[in-house]
Amino acid sequence: MWIQFLGTGDAFCSGGRYQTCILVKVPDYCFMIDFGATSLLALKSRNIESNIIDGIIISHFHGDHFGGLPYFLLDANFCGYRTRPLMIVGPPGVAERVGSLLETSYPKVRIEDLTFEVEFVEFRANQNIAMGPLQIEAIPVIHVPESQPHGIKIHYHDTILAFSGDTGWTDNLFDIADSADLFICECNFFSTELPSHLNYQKILAQRGKLNCKRIILNHLGAEMLEHVNSIDLEVSYDGLILEI
Ligand SMILES: [Zn+2]
Repeated sequence: MWIQFLGTGDAFCSGGRYQTCILVKVPDYCFMIDFGATSLLALKSRNIESNIIDGIIISHFHGDHFGGLPYFLLDANFCGYRTRPLMIVGPPGVAERVGSLLETSYPKVRIEDLTFEVEFVEFRANQNIAMGPLQIEAIPVIHVPESQPHGIKIHYHDTILAFSGDTGWTDNLFDIADSADLFICECNFFSTELPSHLNYQKILAQRGKLNCKRIILNHLGAEMLEHVNSIDLEVSYDGLILEI
């Protein structure tokens, strides 16, 4: 599994980082984890063609995680001349949310009028979703409830990539991280405590109980970025590439 972090910042693009957007490739399949409002620019600034993407997983309905989809869809339609289907997996209501975001951004533009089919698939409790050669498992986390926040486990044969989404501390993070080859964990703050986001001190204190081979911190806010050169856990940055 080949992973490129394209957006590792918080909602406010702290430190000049793009909003959450991670590109993942396995043989014969390419997908994104989250697609924040800045994600099309994040792709194009690295000369990555949006047409290589087969599917997109959305962790929750906040603009820094799915707000870039209207631009992706229109770019695929008008610039990429896309004809092959695109799969979008997300929380319940994903088709309506993305359709309404598209029509709000560009009145009279509808998903059904695009040059390609968009297949929407909703997360289901205790049931994996097939996405190409992958199995997607979504686990609820603690964030603004109306955004329907989820952590995600992506299974590819024996390899597991785990992603926290945006969340405060919840013991569900143990399940999300369990047996993962890589756990990408949000770390919005260094020490500030909020119910809706994690901080570095909390993650460090729980690291021994998170049963994953490797953890990398993501979704870094301004306070966290001030400490990024003096901490004991691995931190992502825009452009980081790794393989698991
Ligand atoms: Zn966020």
